[in-house]
Amino acid sequence: MTLPGSPHLVRLAGELRLDGHSLVDLAHRFGTPLFVYSQAAMLSAVAAYHQALQGRPHLVCYAMKANSSLAVLQTFARAGCGFDIVSVGELERVLAAGGSAAKTVFSGVGKKRDEMARALEAGVRCFNVESHGELVRLDEVARAHGKLARVSLRVNPDVDAGTHPYISTGLKGNKFGIAHHEALDAYRHAAALPGLEVVGIDCHIGSQIVQIAPYLDALDRLLDLVEAVEREGLVIHHVDVGGGLGITYTDEAPPAADALVGALLARLDSRGHGWREVLFEPGRSLVGNAGVLLTEVQYLKRGPTKNFCIVDAAMNDLLRPAMYEAWMAIEPCRQRDGIAAETWDVVGPVCESGDWLGRDRRLAISEGDTLAVLSAGAYGMAMASNYNTRPRAAEIMLVGDQAHLIREREPIQALMSGERLL
Ligand SMILES: *Cc1c(COP(=O)(O)O)cnc(C)c1O
Repeated sequence: MTLPGSPHLVRLAGELRLDGHSLVDLAHRFGTPLFVYSQAAMLSAVAAYHQALQGRPHLVCYAMKANSSLAVLQTFARAGCGFDIVSVGELERVLAAGGSAAKTVFSGVGKKRDEMARALEAGVRCFNVESHGELVRLDEVARAHGKLARVSLRVNPDVDAGTHPYISTGLKGNKFGIAHHEALDAYRHAAALPGLEVVGIDCHIGSQIVQIAPYLDALDRLLDLVEAVEREGLVIHHVDVGGGLGITYTDEAPPAADALVGALLARLDSRGHGWREVLFEPGRSLVGNAGVLLTEVQYLKRGPTKNFCIVDAAMNDLLRPAMYEAWMAIEPCRQRDGIAAETWDVVGPVCESGDWLGRDRRLAISEGDTLAVLSAGAYGMAMASNYNTRPRAAEIMLVGDQAHLIREREPIQALMSGERLL
């Protein structure tokens, strides 16, 4: 059978294996719920970007909000990546994982003064600035600390990425970026502020994008601006086209990373901008299909209109289905003979009707079986919470024939630390 997503995940003799490791065995050894990642899958995903960019000045900044576990960051830092961060907490994680501030770009609409000061002190590569107010504030903070802040303006190119409204970010009605028609003025403003140095331009038009065309439209809009800005004597060193490339959850057919990169480089060349440094900020496409979430079936509860398969993972472990009604494949880790497939809603123990991982799934299962939710490497653990006072899951990274525990299951005591009785 073909599984959506990663070629690293195969079913052999009825048993699901990730990089050769039996998922049932990992579940029994480390307990559930459990995130399992293939380091090889992450490395091959980033190699696709790097190979397509070979011979060009470039930097791939992993958008770490997709999965910010330290061993994941370490993997990408060693592979030569920079990082796209959206908080000072993410910056501290980059540094703790051995990443370089000089290769880190700082995105986000709501940067606070203390975050700016810490990022300046650490020496981030640039701030992706999203408003006039942020330019003013960053200039003040930089001057107060005797620093010069390198800035790129995040432009909202007003293109439709054709994706879910919650993950579409490049349209006029979004909170993100500076409107295209105001961007030239914002560059003049930035150039006039003594604490700032203009170095680049960026955009990020959305997530889970499965077409190349919206990227080309966005790049064209950026290059129009670059030309207008440079006519006024400013220099734009790099063009950052953001992230957002989709992955296969079910039957989506996103372009391969090298096809996307190739198309964008060709457009840069044809418009005479081929010499410029290009930055990418991929998140999901580097980690999404590299991970699965393992969970154990607790109860099979049959009802008059619905059958519920109650598992030990829930919306606090994997929020995407509840938050975006995202469809994620669910597979038994070991196929069973002699049990008929039935239709199940796969739900967690959290006290919310929105707590489901999959609806109307045909599964041949019994209590105690291990299920795998596929393509769970991105926006899984990173969005996990302690709702219902549930400890967060453990995480495993597969490296060759080794299974490394990269995050312990959270002890319940840790959930109460920092709290005080009256
Ligand atoms: C979330 C985000 C990304 C990464 O998006 P993916 O869809 O995970 O690739 C890149 N840049 C910015 C500014 C983001 O907010």
